[in-house]
Amino acid sequence: MPSGVQTEVKTYQMHINGEWVASKSSKTFPVYDPASEEIIAQVPDANADDVNRAVAAAKAAFEEGPWATTTAQERGRVLFRLADKIRQNLPMLAELESRNTGKPIVEAEYDINDTATCFEYYGGLATKILGFVNPVPDNAVSLTMKEPIGVAGQIIPWNYPLLMAAWKLAPALAAGCACVLKPAEQTPLTALEFAKWFGEVGLPPGVVNIITGFGETAGAPLVQHPDVNKIAFTGSAAVGKVIVKQAADTVKRVTLELGGKSPNIFFADADFEAAIDGALFGVFINQGEVCSAGSRILVQKPIYKKFVDAMAEKAKKIKLGAPLDRDTKMGPLVSKEQYDRVRSYLDVGKKEAKLAFGGGRAEQFAKGYYVQPTIFYDVDNSARIAREEIFGPVAAVIPFDDEKDAMKIANDSPYGLAAAVWTRDIFKAFRVVKSLRAGIVWINHMQPTYVEAPWGGYKQSGFGRELGPWGIEEYLETKQVHINLNESPIGWY
Ligand code: ADP
Ligand code: MG
Repeated sequence: MPSGVQTEVKTYQMHINGEWVASKSSKTFPVYDPASEEIIAQVPDANADDVNRAVAAAKAAFEEGPWATTTAQERGRVLFRLADKIRQNLPMLAELESRNTGKPIVEAEYDINDTATCFEYYGGLATKILGFVNPVPDNAVSLTMKEPIGVAGQIIPWNYPLLMAAWKLAPALAAGCACVLKPAEQTPLTALEFAKWFGEVGLPPGVVNIITGFGETAGAPLVQHPDVNKIAFTGSAAVGKVIVKQAADTVKRVTLELGGKSPNIFFADADFEAAIDGALFGVFINQGEVCSAGSRILVQKPIYKKFVDAMAEKAKKIKLGAPLDRDTKMGPLVSKEQYDRVRSYLDVGKKEAKLAFGGGRAEQFAKGYYVQPTIFYDVDNSARIAREEIFGPVAAVIPFDDEKDAMKIANDSPYGLAAAVWTRDIFKAFRVVKSLRAGIVWINHMQPTYVEAPWGGYKQSGFGRELGPWGIEEYLETKQVHINLNESPIGWY
């Protein structure tokens, strides 16, 4: 079905304590298809009352419900069954994700596949949470035990909706936590479809609650709730800073993934064709709505001019189209708000730098939040388009002289999520890896992301790590247990 064809507007309920419910206020809000600009669904508009009942359900499930005594093997099997449901329903979930976010269907299929893989990975890891015996200098046994942190509040963005839900839910459930997940208000639909299977796969009521609502009215009360033990957040740096402050009163554990302004660094000795591909892919995949987007493209001066020309030439051929067309490489941006934000940066960029390609709305579409892949060059690293996260298909190309110059520019950013370096010189590549202040560094590639490897940033890109064993660690507390083996009084008095 081509995007833009209006279908019925479906009204969803949200999922609290194993039941489908409306918001206490009965209010709903609309969810859009960004290609047709039409409303495709109505979802409950949760507020603090709804957050309270979701947290109460999670707390009860964690403390008293069957989940509290479920074995690691059983938790693992629940996660495997969730993965099976996702794989069996991949076409439905991918189509819904594509329609709601605007992302190309082929990318949505990758995302949903990765979502299932994430549940499989943590299903396996559930039985590998290990303790430790501490070598204390006494006739005693000292143990380190790992325990679930409790109720986890999870707030996620709109760019990879179900995949981000998996990055949060899978490690939390493997650890034995109970969850209240709030999808982004723009893209709550796949998480709600996913909740349909919770009962069937053996998740007891209250273990995972999905509330739909806005940041200030549903997200903030979740962050402030005294019975929520941890907040995991992925989103903008501005909201991340608010969350840290709001979590302070209850001394909550917080992990944050806040995006970046990642440098994609091209030395003159790089494979030129691979480099051009990597530069475009790094910043235009998912319409540039990627936290790790290689949005600062640093190019060494001997190849700079040729590089900018080749990028522009190839960008012309990127196929923008309806999200559900299989040959579409870029769809519309997710929302009117995001479209307006990106458009405003295009105006800023035209004043700050030169334009090699794009710079406006893709006018071949009568409707939809389509923005051209845009390449600014001769950008100074102090420019706003080089410092601020745009979260759209906008590249800032910056020339550099040598390795030292490249490292100075690359690290001169408030962010430090990801970086990539392209060269055939392994020695140079590794010097660069060591001097980059970023949580993820790719050599001769950009964006590959695996559930087995850690994800997260330095500096204002946040703290904590998701994925791999690092991801489950963030949902565990550490308990020290001392067992005295002396069968006599301490003998102090
Ligand atoms: P964007 O700017 O692209 O909308 P946000 O950081 O605002 O990105 O959104 C990411 C997630 O954070 C969404 O689920 C949103 O509802 C939530 N959010 C926004 N503001 C707040 C807030 N004040 N407290 C808690 N969550 C929030
Ligand atoms: Mg927002």
